[in-house]
Amino acid sequence: MELPAIVALADQHGRKATLAAVRAAVERIRARGAGAPARETSVESLVQEIGSILAGTPRRLRRVVNGTGVVIHTNLGRAPVAAIAASRAVELAASYSNLELDLATGRRGDRQSLLVDLLCRMTGAEAAMVVNNGAAAVLLGLAALCPRREVVVSRGEAIEIGGGFRIPEILRLSGARLVEVGTTNRTRVSDYLEACSDRTAAFLRVHQSNFRMEGFVQRPAVAELARAAHERGVLLLEDVGSGLVPPPTPAGAAEDRLSASSAAGVDLIFSSGDKLLGASQAGLVMGRGPLVEKMRRHPLARALRPDKLQLAVLEETLLCYEAPGRLAEIPVWRMLNSSPGELRARAERWALTLTARGVDAEVVPLEGAVGGGTTPGPALPSHGVLITTAQPGAARRLLLRGDPPVLCLERATGVAVDARCVLPEEEGVLLSALSAAFGGAA
Ligand SMILES: *Cc1c(COP(=O)(O)O)cnc(C)c1O
Repeated sequence: MELPAIVALADQHGRKATLAAVRAAVERIRARGAGAPARETSVESLVQEIGSILAGTPRRLRRVVNGTGVVIHTNLGRAPVAAIAASRAVELAASYSNLELDLATGRRGDRQSLLVDLLCRMTGAEAAMVVNNGAAAVLLGLAALCPRREVVVSRGEAIEIGGGFRIPEILRLSGARLVEVGTTNRTRVSDYLEACSDRTAAFLRVHQSNFRMEGFVQRPAVAELARAAHERGVLLLEDVGSGLVPPPTPAGAAEDRLSASSAAGVDLIFSSGDKLLGASQAGLVMGRGPLVEKMRRHPLARALRPDKLQLAVLEETLLCYEAPGRLAEIPVWRMLNSSPGELRARAERWALTLTARGVDAEVVPLEGAVGGGTTPGPALPSHGVLITTAQPGAARRLLLRGDPPVLCLERATGVAVDARCVLPEEEGVLLSALSAAFGGAA
């Protein structure tokens, strides 16, 4: 540890990591045994070995190639954001910004007011705010608007999204009281009305994000529920989950709910930023001015506020939505709108390259998904390459340990990579990773 070369390494990598690398290198030398040639046990080679151990220390958070065909993959960080949005975040991360400074007056500003105009313009809402994520938006809304009062929820919508987000628990945590109405499969407007009393603050409607009920099912239309709520003088709140902003995509048409809900008279809408919207992690709140104002003034707002990088990405993504010519810059939008024909052509190119490099690859039809607790319904017909191998499980794990790691699909006869979610700039490294793992001749 006192050798000048090691001191220099400790300066770059930290004493603890360097000490661990020294121990690992010494262990390797011991394992090679006393008979190893002198050149392998010299101080220079030892220092070199320690240096390469340290240089190879992987970061915990790494770029991963998504070969699963699942567009919003929560394990993979949900939406990749537009390159332009990412570069805005980089620019603002490395400098000061006017996050809470009003440049017109020189006075203190409010980060919550930064994206209000954009969100209102897009959804037709009167007011808006941004918090850290979708769950935070629901929690803050209930805490600010319904404390110690009753909130009526359909039994079919008292759901769990995953990752511990359960509507009944969020309600309890917010200080509101849950009143469940209807049945799992059918809830009518009259069920909400019968539960309504002077203790009621709101009806809460929740998008059944990650499951679908079919058959003998019924839930009121949003506009109908809004009318009923307003007749009784209570609020209608809606957690739309994913909430794509128009123009709708073929795959996401059913998710085009923000403006629709706004137009139908919902008082307050909550939505996620990093699902179908394809932006940063964020919770969007859109609705009536006085309600949003109450949320902004609630003490929890400070605890749930978004940071400047989230806001930078969100702003740039929303601007892409406003310009039809820029929609294709949003990766999620592009992936959802890739036709099976385009995907097949891409997979054919990959198969040609891989075959030329000695990999046993062929084009296969696959089925992807929107994913991420968004639209549980339709599969996304897609194409990709299937690489034949005797041990698909081992092959899948091998690709995960590669650089970059590739997440693929395990099939009976091999592993498959769906073309939909592979970014264009990743094609080269993907094909190299696949050839390195499975290449024979070339
Ligand atoms: C995903 C989702 C949430 C949680 O949003 P996050 O941004 O993940 O916090 C809440 N409600 C619904 C209906 C969802 O689909």
